[in-house]
Amino acid sequence: MAELKSCPFCGGEVKIIPEQVDARTVAYNFVCQNGDCCANVYFDYSNKEESIEAWNTRKPMEAKVAELEVLHDLVNMNQKLAVSQAISIVRGKE
Ligand SMILES: [Zn+2]
Repeated sequence: MAELKSCPFCGGEVKIIPEQVDARTVAYNFVCQNGDCCANVYFDYSNKEESIEAWNTRKPMEAKVAELEVLHDLVNMNQKLAVSQAISIVRGKE
């Protein structure tokens, strides 16, 4: 069995908990063992190896953080522009 990557939210250890969905299907939940985290991820595969592959090849959180930082910068720029326009209106320059 491939080694599991750690929890993307807290870096904690993750365990696979099989869940019998019906007579033929077992789903695999990836449950963070950090009691303060509560991450519990389920993939729509009934094959354990495919589930592990999906868990281990998920999009890196660093890429998601980079996307959020770009959005954060855009929001900051829009807020500054809005405040700047508001000041101009108050001062009667626009
Ligand atoms: Zn976690």
